[in-house]
Amino acid sequence: ASAGGQLPATPSTPSFPAVLGVAVPTPLRRLFDYRTGPSVPPGGWQPGLRVRVPFGRREVVGIVVECRAHSEVPFADLKPISAWLDATPLPDDWLWLCRFTARYYQHALGDTLHQSLPVLLRQGRTLEARTRERWRLTASGRDSSSERLGRARRQAELLELLRQHPRGLVSSAIAAQGFGRAQLDALAGKGLIECRREAVIDTPSPGSAGWLAEPALPLNREQGTALAAMHEGLDRYHPCLLHGVTGSGKTEVYLQLIEAVIARGRQALVLVPEIGLTPQTVARFRKRFRVPVVALHSGISDGERLDAWLAAANGRAPIVIGTRSAIFTPLANPGAIIVDEEHDGSYKQQDGLRYHARDLAVIRAHHHGIPVLLGSATPSLESLAQAQAGRYRHLRLTRRASRHAPARLELVDLRGRPRQGGLIAPAIDAIRHTLAAGRQVLVFINRRGFAPTLACHTCGWLAECDHCDARLTLHRQPPQLACHHCERQQPLPDACPECGSADLRPLGAGTERAEETLATLFPETPVYRIDRDSTRRKDAFEQALTEVRRGAPCLLVGTQMLAKGHHLPHVTLVVVINADAGLYASDFRALEHSAQLLIQVAGRAGRAEHPGRVLVQTLHSDDPHLRLLADNGYDALASQLLEERRVAGLPPYRFLALARFESPRDADATALAANAAMALRDRLGQEHDGVQCLGPVPAPMERRQNRYHVQLMLSGAQRSKLHEAAAWLAAWLERSREARRVRWSLDIDPQTL
Ligand code: ADP
Ligand code: ZN
Ligand code: ZN
Repeated sequence: ASAGGQLPATPSTPSFPAVLGVAVPTPLRRLFDYRTGPSVPPGGWQPGLRVRVPFGRREVVGIVVECRAHSEVPFADLKPISAWLDATPLPDDWLWLCRFTARYYQHALGDTLHQSLPVLLRQGRTLEARTRERWRLTASGRDSSSERLGRARRQAELLELLRQHPRGLVSSAIAAQGFGRAQLDALAGKGLIECRREAVIDTPSPGSAGWLAEPALPLNREQGTALAAMHEGLDRYHPCLLHGVTGSGKTEVYLQLIEAVIARGRQALVLVPEIGLTPQTVARFRKRFRVPVVALHSGISDGERLDAWLAAANGRAPIVIGTRSAIFTPLANPGAIIVDEEHDGSYKQQDGLRYHARDLAVIRAHHHGIPVLLGSATPSLESLAQAQAGRYRHLRLTRRASRHAPARLELVDLRGRPRQGGLIAPAIDAIRHTLAAGRQVLVFINRRGFAPTLACHTCGWLAECDHCDARLTLHRQPPQLACHHCERQQPLPDACPECGSADLRPLGAGTERAEETLATLFPETPVYRIDRDSTRRKDAFEQALTEVRRGAPCLLVGTQMLAKGHHLPHVTLVVVINADAGLYASDFRALEHSAQLLIQVAGRAGRAEHPGRVLVQTLHSDDPHLRLLADNGYDALASQLLEERRVAGLPPYRFLALARFESPRDADATALAANAAMALRDRLGQEHDGVQCLGPVPAPMERRQNRYHVQLMLSGAQRSKLHEAAAWLAAWLERSREARRVRWSLDIDPQTL
């Protein structure tokens, strides 16, 4: 009667005993079967209910995904569910997105569900938001005058305070005014005030003042056109690319779109690349709206994250802003998704579950039937191709809201010119002039440390990591050699380990060296270095920026941390120490990414009333791509790159998947990759549906942390065919015995090769 029972007609009709397919947190790409056990959840089984189940020797929190009549395991051998944790299932939209993500990215569903949940829910915490007390006057409290309270002066004062706050005050605010429990209890005892419990994040009713805390800006013509286009498609899937130069007012368009979404009683989800680095973004949203704006990022506590997640899931949070993983936030009434800086590399997770949050945003908007707005000054070639094909609406903002044209890139030839800390004389002169005019300078160098490596001038030895195919970076603060790939550190040698010579010199320049040189050249001017090392201390970054915003002449030296989204209104000169990193790299996206970075850095210059200059030092000032970027701008270069990708059969015109293999022994990784490739090619056979398998080849940095990395590249003209091949390969690898000695992973739509 057991395993042969009928499958329930609807999920909520309990028909026990049956077999439940549970997703548990493991990398294995399958569900695990359990039987129901003694207790049954009140509403019957439903997908999305959390359970506690025995798994191996442990008990884990799993999520029920399906109910089946049969299991391959004999019913008597199935273990029972130990406990049901929820009365109501986790939100549908979240479960749907996780299932899609697991399938699309070829990742285990159990691990996908687990990773996309707040930590406290992973651990089995109940789905209850923390609450607080809100006190307000009762009807008789409103009618009574404080005089009636006679000599109870503090009670009278509290009554007056609450009279000024018709929506009531939360107990912490009352305590902050110096009132205690005694006064609250006394007034409540007289029936003058009452208390209600509410969630910590709670939307107040709009009241007569409405949702807006400050008026929206009148839009310029281009912004108006963009917003009108968004208004046309508020109730359907409507993907739009908001392509606007830095400072053209994209954020203002987001704010007014959100206003329309909230007016419909819906929620807006906003993805941003990094919140920790750009608190101004969240501040701007909070300033505009009189509703809770919840921010999800790495800096909040587990409790705050759970509150935010529940407030989003219950519809109490109208605006949710977060980094990559916020795409998994459930929404009760989704109204729009906005992805700011949609080209940013941080949207792609580079390990474990390798999803792309921008791509999931589009999928999710399609599922909900809502608009999705992708904004950027330098859109990804993927999004541009979608716009060109007419699948995304292309909205352009070509003018800066502040009237000034964005600064042009001026290429400065480095060849044959002596450098000081990476800078040549014309750049140093330009810096001197800018500082003399009372303005600020940003020097951009995308390498932290003092110098990219240490070299022996007698024999040519270079400091290299023993564990990686990489040079060691020389640091001075503190003095050491460090590998930026495996984080190993070692003391500086006194002499060359090869020939004993003491003539060891730094080779090239990093941020520390540029800082040192600038401090020597301009001893009167403060120099602020901004990179991962200098900002390790919490708030160090914000403090430096606060100083810089005061506007006194200063020098900023930094890595791409400085390029992102900061308004530096007093910077009128940007110097890029070396633009060449992406020009001849093996990764086909390197050029696109370095062009985006250059334009982003250039966008820092001259944002306020003063026009800016951008000097770009390069050894390849006649490189055609770099020239095109400097002379005609990002859009021209992007068109050219798209054409090159089309000819070369690369994304966005073909789709890629990368299988990565790593092991301590080179031979193990290579053998498994070769066998996998052979099996896959066999399977693809003649009818390979346009799917190709290339490799195995060594990864760009073959040895990392003493592990060898080998890869296979799958490419296909059709996404679906490529995915079938990738799924087949994953299944083959899971079954393979050799795969136990080799760590492998699949990366669908890889961003870096
Ligand atoms: P982006 O997001 O495209 O970089 P922002 O939205 O941050 O641009 O706008 C740049 C500056 O211009 C901001 O200071 C903003 O307040 C201002 N701004 C934007 N739109 C308008 C407008 N319509 N009228 C006046 N100022 C505007
Ligand atoms: Zn030597
Ligand atoms: Zn290393």
